[in-house]
Amino acid sequence: MGELRRDPVANRWVIIDPERPDREAGLKVEAQPPPPLSGPCPLCPGNEAMTPPEIAAFGEPSRQPNQAGWWVRVTPDLQPLCRIEGDFDRRPEGPFDVMNAIGAHEIVIESPEHHLTWAELPEQQLERVLRIYKLRSLDLRMDERFRSLIVVKNHADAASILSHPHSHVLALPFVPFGLEEELRGCREFYARKDRCAFCDIILHERVSRVRRVVETDHFVVLAPFASRFPFETWLLPLRHASDFARIGDRELIDLAGLLKRMMQMIGKVLGNQACTIVLHTTPFDESHTHDYHWHLEILPKTAPVVGFGWGARLFVNPVPPEEAAALMGQAM
Ligand SMILES: [Zn+2]
Ligand SMILES: [Zn+2]
Ligand SMILES: [Zn+2]
Repeated sequence: MGELRRDPVANRWVIIDPERPDREAGLKVEAQPPPPLSGPCPLCPGNEAMTPPEIAAFGEPSRQPNQAGWWVRVTPDLQPLCRIEGDFDRRPEGPFDVMNAIGAHEIVIESPEHHLTWAELPEQQLERVLRIYKLRSLDLRMDERFRSLIVVKNHADAASILSHPHSHVLALPFVPFGLEEELRGCREFYARKDRCAFCDIILHERVSRVRRVVETDHFVVLAPFASRFPFETWLLPLRHASDFARIGDRELIDLAGLLKRMMQMIGKVLGNQACTIVLHTTPFDESHTHDYHWHLEILPKTAPVVGFGWGARLFVNPVPPEEAAALMGQAM
């Protein structure tokens, strides 16, 4: 029989059931064929004119903006989910609230090389990518219209339209639901116990070790107790910190090395590196400094296990996190 587990932060119940008949699907990632290339890649060096004008870049000191010679480059997304110009024009529509989709949707072009995954990028290059996330967060919070920032990376996703390595930075005038759920849970936990929920989880998992995948000087990787998905992992700073943008240089270097090893490990364990990486960090107002703890969630793209997961928001996971953590820990 399966087990019901509740996540102490999101307060969500999950069914962990290794006897599910569809368990095999959760133990590997099917490789997908890449979509056929149509025309030149807009993110490759030499094609800078194919993207909107750049917002930031690291590159050769002599380089001019929107020319080759960059190492990492940030531009508005080619098909943005929201736009930076204009007003919200907030308005009611009967009982409903509507406003214009104002926000920043940027892409970070992570390398001049077209085919490299994070497992293959030099560590120094990954460090530049992380550093530019930090700079974008510090810059975008100056715009008072924005309340929160998330970073989403579809890693080694062969089905992506743009196969060139890139990630998305979104600054939004609201707090997305998944983050808000965690903020609420953390606030309630803190009100009861005067402690950060994630710090408590880290403390417990470092002692018990059954769900701890790996640890470095500054970070720990866990398979969460109430994992929604097979091989779901959280990567958290050991030291309490609510705001990713306050990360120090040593931590940044440590994180770059750890992420590279993580992606290599996922490829080894699941046969394919395809995963989604999401940065969860505090909203721009400083109201969650004590109770929230920034982290990365890494969700490997194993086959969908049960059909009603999303529709009913009922998650059924056939791979217990203890088993996932053991398999991943051995492969690090
Ligand atoms: Zn390219
Ligand atoms: Zn904490
Ligand atoms: Zn989270």
